Amino acid sequence: MPDYEPDKQELASRDVVSRRMKEHMLKGKGVQSPYGEHLWMDLRHLGKEHLTTKLREVVDICMYFIGVNPITELIPVRPTQHYSMGGIRVNKDGHAYNLEGLFALGEVACWDMHGFNRLGGNSLAETVVGGMVVGKKVAEYTKKATLIADKTLAEQFAKKEQDKMAKMLNNANGENVYKLRDEISAILIKDVHIFRTEEGLTRATEGLLDIIKRTKNIKVHSKAPGMNPELSSALRIEGMAKQAYIIAKGALDRTESRGAHSREDYPKRDDDKWLNRTLARWPEPDGEPVFTYEPVGLLDLPPGYRGYGDDLRVDMKISIEKYNKKMIIDSKVSLTDYERLVNAEDEEKDSFLKAHVNSIRKHVDQLSDKNYQDLYDIESPDFVLMFIPIEPAFAVAVTEDNSIYNKAFEKNIVIVTPSTLLATLRTIDSMWNNEKQQRNAIEIARQAGALYDKFEGLVNDLTGVGKKIDAAN
Ligand SMILES: Cc1cc2nc3c(=O)[nH]c(=O)nc-3n(C[C@H](O)[C@H](O)[C@H](O)COP(=O)(O)OP(=O)(O)OC[C@H]3O[C@@H](n4cnc5c(N)ncnc54)[C@H](O)[C@@H]3O)c2cc1C
Repeated sequence: MPDYEPDKQELASRDVVSRRMKEHMLKGKGVQSPYGEHLWMDLRHLGKEHLTTKLREVVDICMYFIGVNPITELIPVRPTQHYSMGGIRVNKDGHAYNLEGLFALGEVACWDMHGFNRLGGNSLAETVVGGMVVGKKVAEYTKKATLIADKTLAEQFAKKEQDKMAKMLNNANGENVYKLRDEISAILIKDVHIFRTEEGLTRATEGLLDIIKRTKNIKVHSKAPGMNPELSSALRIEGMAKQAYIIAKGALDRTESRGAHSREDYPKRDDDKWLNRTLARWPEPDGEPVFTYEPVGLLDLPPGYRGYGDDLRVDMKISIEKYNKKMIIDSKVSLTDYERLVNAEDEEKDSFLKAHVNSIRKHVDQLSDKNYQDLYDIESPDFVLMFIPIEPAFAVAVTEDNSIYNKAFEKNIVIVTPSTLLATLRTIDSMWNNEKQQRNAIEIARQAGALYDKFEGLVNDLTGVGKKIDAAN
């Protein structure tokens, strides 16, 4: 990682690490094994003390699952999915949009805590904080709700499921559920993986549609009554295949790269076309899913460039067409030293704090040297907003050097944080609005003046005509 991401190294986000790993393997530097290609991860330099106290879980996972001792041995690793960014679309209370009484939260839900990527630690916030918020809403809903149990409907459904199980258990000739599961997995790993293309995704959707059909004809070999893992897998496989198809088809249609969705044939994020959520419904079980798109709407945290290093790409252009002006927000400031500061022992804190303040100062200088207006075809912005996504990261920097904000301001850079970003944007919006009103008032006065001049001319002419008529009389 130091070669690929010298600034962040192993602290780079999961999607970036996955991409770098894949690139390394594509260069032919992977290790072949009976379980597929992998890389080696070396933690031996951290030493026994560090590994057994600060990374205990890593040691346990290595020992229990693959029998590798990371204190003395290399660990085989490979890039894979780091989180399911999509899920059941719910509102802020965790209530599903389209199914009254269904609540969802956590990795299974689309609760708007994540976009096309997942920030580190967000799952914890989602399950713990979100769990509390949504849990209360479920309790409130349950108190008011009345249970209308339609026995006939339940019996019909139970009969349908029993028939399905009987068919699978008695099937003389049918598909093996584990084979189908492995085929789904192979398709996703080959063509719906870290880097995606139209060709691969098309192949994946075709393959998955075929598997969906084959899930209708399964033979369950194990006839054990009660807890039967093969039977429970068989009952789930159709849903798994359909879910995989929705992911592949949604990715195929989305002709851009965003967050963890990385298209080789469309490497750029396209906010004009794709600042929306893909919604998929499957109204007819034997038909095909229906895809619609929901605009993302106003965001507290705007989409930005989430890579690392010196990059001249504009993070976001806020276009308020009615003012014919555009605002640039930069969110590339490195917070590596801040992370180190937070995790540091007492004696190390001072040096990391200084490094963090220097990093912000350096970024201000770099930003001021960049001429964004020359890079893009946009009206020259008066100033740039520099967004620091972690509030305390800015607070500690200002405590250490209280001139940091003013010095940036002198260079036409306004430092904003999550709590000040929206207020700042609203102030800019109101300033532009005032400016426009002022321009309108001047225009009205100019046109009124011109009208007055014309009217005065007309009156003079008419007076002249009147005088001439009087003289003629
Ligand atoms: C290796 C790894 C490392 C991670 N590290 C971090 C981290 O450092 N920080 C962080 O914030 N997040 C991390 N995550 C992500 C985080 O752990 C998950 O997003 C989070 O645990 C999801 O919680 P959940 O309750 O939504 O779902 P889950 O934890 O998946 O819980 C779902 C539960 O439902 C059960 N279930 C499924 N089907 C049925 C059924 N039909 N009937 C009854 N029960 C069922 C499952 O057995 C499971 O217990 C990591 C994930 C992985 C895999």
